[in-house]
Amino acid sequence: MDFSVSPKIHQDLKLMRSFVKEELYPIESKRLHESWPTLESTLQPLRDTVKSNGWWAPYFHGNKQGKSYSLVELGLISEVMGASPLGHYVFGSQAPDAGNAELLEAFGSEEQKEQYLKPLVDGKIRSCFAMTEPAVAGSNPTLLEATAEKDGDDYIINAHKWFTSSADGANFAIIMAVTNPEADIYQRSSMLIVDCDNPGFELVRNISIMGEQGAGYFSHAETKFTNCRVPKTALIGAEGEGFKLAQTRLGPGRIHHCMRWLGIADRALKMHCDYAKTRMIGHKRSLADSDITKQRIAENAANIAAAKALVLQTAWQIEHQGFKAARFNISMIKYFTANVLQKSLDDAIQAMGGLGMTDDTILAYFFRHERAARIYDGPDEVHQVSVAKQLLK
Ligand SMILES: Cc1cc2nc3c(=O)[nH]c(=O)nc-3n(C[C@H](O)[C@H](O)[C@H](O)COP(=O)(O)OP(=O)(O)OC[C@H]3O[C@@H](n4cnc5c(N)ncnc54)[C@H](O)[C@@H]3O)c2cc1C
Repeated sequence: MDFSVSPKIHQDLKLMRSFVKEELYPIESKRLHESWPTLESTLQPLRDTVKSNGWWAPYFHGNKQGKSYSLVELGLISEVMGASPLGHYVFGSQAPDAGNAELLEAFGSEEQKEQYLKPLVDGKIRSCFAMTEPAVAGSNPTLLEATAEKDGDDYIINAHKWFTSSADGANFAIIMAVTNPEADIYQRSSMLIVDCDNPGFELVRNISIMGEQGAGYFSHAETKFTNCRVPKTALIGAEGEGFKLAQTRLGPGRIHHCMRWLGIADRALKMHCDYAKTRMIGHKRSLADSDITKQRIAENAANIAAAKALVLQTAWQIEHQGFKAARFNISMIKYFTANVLQKSLDDAIQAMGGLGMTDDTILAYFFRHERAARIYDGPDEVHQVSVAKQLLK
């Protein structure tokens, strides 16, 4: 396995890191509390700069404006972008749009690519992904209750979903629904595109998460699809392929998420160190002088380095040996990295005392938002059970 990157990528990463530090760090805390339209217009010039630097949507292979990176390189880029909550959006790589674009690139028809994929990767429209339902366990997508019934040349969708992230202001949703109730559980469902101005689509509310009512790109909606009619051309891939598509969508997606989390974990560790050096907890004694602080810093540094090596190894494996061969590692990085992130944030907040609880630093924002890392894309337990099962075999 070789994780080395070319001098050119090194240079790109260095420039991107400076951009994130100089342009995003200074504005993020204030901007994140603005309304979505204000934030969106503030970020547009930064997105234009990213585009003119040729960094736009780096995940997207067909992007003529950008470059085609390997999954290891993309992981490293994701780490850099992820260090700011604004990073992925400013670089045109935000979830769920990036995952939806990867899905459409791999399985979309030519018409779907023209109508949805092109404007999506150009950053002209946004999208959302509606799989999770309040009534059934989202951890197991074979339990889905949403239906898409054939009616002549159309499908009629009925579904109650939630955690449809970024639905507020999105132009289209990719919904997972049961099309063949009699089929084997893994062949029952399909993915379909629904325009958000379809009269059968309803955004019920933006769900408040950890005390924050997100909006626009930063929202998580409850959604309903009531007798929502779409043409059969809305189907992505073949009927019954929903589960396969969901798995394919999540593979590279986990690399992006995990490396983004490591960007955050590393930033938290740096903030932890910086604060500990300057905070005096006694006469001529800084927080950094305490053994427990040193121990926490050392533990977090080792955790972050180990997680990074494992994520890059998994990225390499997906690319060189395929998704199936990498499945074991994909599960391992999901829970391992999410917990490394959580510990790094928690320890940094602890080190800052009362300051850590305030929104005067970015840590509290990250802590609120990234608690979800241990839940979405499969909770810890689901991946732990899967890894243990394979080992016990
Ligand atoms: C911030 C955020 C954003 C999200 N964005 C999206 C999105 O854009 N689109 C979308 O469709 N969904 C999204 N989700 C939903 C997410 O994918 C689900 O919450 C997740 O799959 C878990 O499903 P659930 O909430 O129904 O929990 P359940 O499946 O009901 O699980 C509840 C708990 O039970 C435990 N558990 C579950 N299965 C097992 C098992 N096999 N063994 C042992 N314990 C188990 C775990 O502790 C789990 O946390 C998002 C969620 C969050 C929090």
